[in-house]
Amino acid sequence: MEPTVTTRTLPWKPPPAVDVEALPVGRWWDAVRAAPIVGERALKALGDETGAVIQDMYGTLYWLVAVGSIERNWQLRGVRLLTELADESTYLGVPPVSWTTGPKSHWRVPLGPNRYLTHPWRLREALAEADRAEYGPMPEGRQLCYRCQLPTDEPIPVDVEARTNGVGQIIYACPTHAPLYPTGQQPRILTSAPASEPEGRR
Ligand SMILES: [Zn+2]
Repeated sequence: MEPTVTTRTLPWKPPPAVDVEALPVGRWWDAVRAAPIVGERALKALGDETGAVIQDMYGTLYWLVAVGSIERNWQLRGVRLLTELADESTYLGVPPVSWTTGPKSHWRVPLGPNRYLTHPWRLREALAEADRAEYGPMPEGRQLCYRCQLPTDEPIPVDVEARTNGVGQIIYACPTHAPLYPTGQQPRILTSAPASEPEGRR
């Protein structure tokens, strides 16, 4: 039996709501969004040092950090800083405090009396390590995504195309399309492809 969280003791709690509510970033916190593959690894690496974490229905993880504590995007693949911009507002879907299990959006690491914001340096360290481990070295410069054919600043090598001259050409994908790349003989069946990234919408 888990004791009921006395919400009075929480350092912060979302406004009372019965469903996921879009709250503006930059007011109580900024957020760092990480694709599932790097987010999961970083979460493990952080261990007890993690603050509260939201997980959306696609498995994307969101850490809350102090407003203004991160000056710019970290240039890590699949990782985005969600912060207030001068010309537009960004919203994050925040589930009620009591939602602590999936598959819907929930608090993967629940808010607690001593669990709320995550230290940005530790978070960056964990995400950078996860980026290296999952995606390998960052290639120089931008690359075209095999699927959307757009240049991406966060190229993820997904395959090596065999060439007749024996020199392989590396195939890259953007963070959105990397999980969709067909690998091996069995195409991966993805029923919840994060095509539109609704949680980070602007
Ligand atoms: Zn793409």
